[in-house]
Amino acid sequence: MSAKQYDYLCVGAGLYGAVVAHELNKAGKKVLVIEKREHIAGNAYTGNIDGINVHRYGAHIFHTNNEKVWEFVCGFADFNSFVNSPKANFKGEIYSLPFNMNTFKEMWGVNTPEEAKAIIDEQRKKALSEMASKRGVSLEEFVPDNLEEQAISLVGTDIYEKLVKGYTEKQWGRECKDLPAFIIKRLPVRFTFDNNYFNARFQGIPIGGYTRMVEKILEGVEVRLKTDFFDRRDVYKGIADKIIYTGPIDEYFDFRLGHLEYRTLRFETEKLEIPDFQHNAVVNFTDSETPYTRIIEHKWFEFGKDFDGKDIPATVISREYSKEWKNGDEPYYPVNDEKNNELYQRYLELAEREENVYFGGRLGEYRYYDMDQVIEAALGRAESLFKE
Ligand SMILES: Cc1cc2nc3c(=O)[nH]c(=O)nc-3n(C[C@H](O)[C@H](O)[C@H](O)COP(=O)(O)OP(=O)(O)OC[C@H]3O[C@@H](n4cnc5c(N)ncnc54)[C@H](O)[C@@H]3O)c2cc1C
Repeated sequence: MSAKQYDYLCVGAGLYGAVVAHELNKAGKKVLVIEKREHIAGNAYTGNIDGINVHRYGAHIFHTNNEKVWEFVCGFADFNSFVNSPKANFKGEIYSLPFNMNTFKEMWGVNTPEEAKAIIDEQRKKALSEMASKRGVSLEEFVPDNLEEQAISLVGTDIYEKLVKGYTEKQWGRECKDLPAFIIKRLPVRFTFDNNYFNARFQGIPIGGYTRMVEKILEGVEVRLKTDFFDRRDVYKGIADKIIYTGPIDEYFDFRLGHLEYRTLRFETEKLEIPDFQHNAVVNFTDSETPYTRIIEHKWFEFGKDFDGKDIPATVISREYSKEWKNGDEPYYPVNDEKNNELYQRYLELAEREENVYFGGRLGEYRYYDMDQVIEAALGRAESLFKE
C-alpha cells in the first residue's frame, strides 16, 4: 500500500494525459490530473461561441485507420460524417485540394487523367531542362537542391506557382529557393475526382466538440486546472508514486541542455454577423500577398451537408498566421531537424534516468502526433504501466 496520496499524477489534460488518466482510473488507481491552462483537452480544445464550437488551437479533424482507437473515441462521443475537403484560394481563383482531378479540371479544364498527366509532364520536363542548363549539367545529372526545384520537379510549374509557392513561403517565412529540398519529399497527386484530404478509414468531428469528448474521458478523475507543475514541483513530485508528464521535455530539465525549437502559429478569431463566410471549413490562401495561410470557418465542422448555415445567423472565423517561434510562444509543431533531434536524444537520456516519471505526448516526446496516434500511444503507455 502506497503512503502517497495518489498512485499517479498526470501533468497535462491534453489527449495523452486524459487517456492515460482514464485507463488508470478505470483500473482502480487513484489519479490526479493537473493542467496549467484554464481548460482541458490541450490543443484539441473547442470553446463555444454562441452555439458554434471553435477550434481554438487550429482546425482539428479526427481521422484514423486504427480500429481500436476509433472504438475508444466512439465510446465518448458521436462523430459526424465530416470529410476534410479544403479549398485553395489563389488571388480569388478557387481550387480543390488535395491535388486531384477536380483541381486539374479547375486549373486547365481537363477531364481525364491522361490529359492532366500530359500537362504536368510537359511542364516538369521544360522546367527541369531550363534548371539543368542554368546549372550547366545534363538533365540526367540534375538533382533539385532547393524546395522550389524539388516541387517543380514533382508537380510542374502551374501547381507550384499557384498552390505551393506562396503558401510554403508564408509557412516558413523564407523563399522556396532558400528552403532545403527535403522539406517536400512528396507532393501527393491523385488522378481521381476525390477531394477527401485524408486516406483514412474513419473520419469525423465529435458532435458537441472535442472538449465535451475529453470531459467524458476524464469523468470520475480529479482534475485541477490553472495548476502548473513547475509552480510547486517539489509538492507534486511527492504527491504520487508515479508521474506521467506531458509538458515540454526540455522544460522538465530546466532547459539545461538548451531549448528545443518549434514552429508556431497565431490565430485571429472573429465573429461575423452573417450566416456563411466562405462556404467551407478550411480555405488555404496560396498567394504570397495575403498575409495569413488559412481561414477556418468553424461552423462547417459540425453541420450537415444540407445545412445552409442560416439556422445560426452568425459565423466565427479564424485567420491562421505562421510565425517564427521564440521562447515563450505556444509550441505547436516540433522542428524535427538534425540539430533539434540530437538535442532531444540528449534530453531523452536524462528522461530515461528519471525514476517513476514517464514522458509522453507531443511535447514530452518532441514529435508531431495526430490525435489518433497520441491516443494509441497513451493506451500503450497505460498498458505498459499495468505490467510493471
Ligand atoms: C495547428 C494544429 C492542428 C492540428 N490538427 C490536427 C488534426 O486535424 N487532426 C489530428 O489528428 N491532429 C491534429 N493536431 C495534433 C493534435 O493537436 C495533437 O495530436 C494532440 O493535441 C496532442 O495531445 P497531447 O496531449 O500530446 O498534447 P497537448 O494537446 O499539447 O496537451 C498537453 C497539455 O499539457 C499541459 N501542460 C504543459 N506543461 C504543463 C505544466 N508544466 N503543468 C501543467 N500542465 C502542463 C498543456 O497546457 C496542454 O494542455 C494538430 C495540431 C496542431 C498544432
